[in-house]
Amino acid sequence: VTSLLPWPEESLAPRSWSGVGRLLERCRDLHSRGELPGTLMLVGDPGLGREALAVELAASLVCHGGGQVRCRCGSCERLRRGVHPDLEVLDVLPGKTEILIEQVRAVVDNLAQRPYEGHQRLFIVASAHTPPLNSGAASAFLKTLEEPPLHVTVLLLACNPARVLPTIVSRTVQLRLPAPTLAEIASLLASTHGVSEEKAKGLLDAARGDAALVLGSGSGDLAEKLAEARALVGSALAGDSLALLRLGVSVKHDPGRLAWVVDSLVHLAGSSSPKTAERALGAAAALLAADRRRAVLHLDLESTVTGTLAPLLAPA
Ligand SMILES: [Zn+2]
Repeated sequence: VTSLLPWPEESLAPRSWSGVGRLLERCRDLHSRGELPGTLMLVGDPGLGREALAVELAASLVCHGGGQVRCRCGSCERLRRGVHPDLEVLDVLPGKTEILIEQVRAVVDNLAQRPYEGHQRLFIVASAHTPPLNSGAASAFLKTLEEPPLHVTVLLLACNPARVLPTIVSRTVQLRLPAPTLAEIASLLASTHGVSEEKAKGLLDAARGDAALVLGSGSGDLAEKLAEARALVGSALAGDSLALLRLGVSVKHDPGRLAWVVDSLVHLAGSSSPKTAERALGAAAALLAADRRRAVLHLDLESTVTGTLAPLLAPA
């Protein structure tokens, strides 16, 4: 059976990471003493443990075999495939750009329902950021987050609590995923991107250890993409407007490259004169801020990149 979870299989691989295992153990321990908070926010980069922790914690809460680590009982296995009746994952529906208020209401209106299989019901919010969890949908959720019924556990996923509405943050207990070891990331990169562990370590080095950046860069030759982004950013920063346009187009075709552009700017700042470094860092900050506005306002990515950077990259 294909997984109904909204994440690719490799995002669950970190279940074997030591830091994820320790957090899971702590949660299970709290649960066994009846002290696990009903609403948790799992904070970390996508694919670097938060999905794995959510799924494994959920499995241990619905388990029929004593909730042991990596239990293979039918209940745990169905949960891992996203087909357990006591699991509901709230995510953006295909063709939509936000979590709909109706989706939240459907969950909230049905909360009193006891677990189908007798233990716990789980709600996982695949992204608690705003967007896609906008204020209307979030408001419909607040009372539940504040005090979920005893048989309900809500897990919200986020990479940056600053992008989650304060009304939600204040109602959750945050669990920050620990950073994986170099060997753990290299092994994940090797399996997801088909590169040797040695090459994976080289890529991580090039990205200054930013595993999320390397993982999020999609398929293709990572080193080549990184070099290309850096060359374009360097030319644009020196006043080459054609390079700037090409940057815009490359990001339009592959939104994951926005992170590479920001990274290239930061990298460049480290090896430039103070004046150029200041412009590069200013451009990186402006780009991040513009991207956040763009997401909220549903603006076009290409023009956001070129429009934001053009005035900043003009030669002094
Ligand atoms: Zn089990």
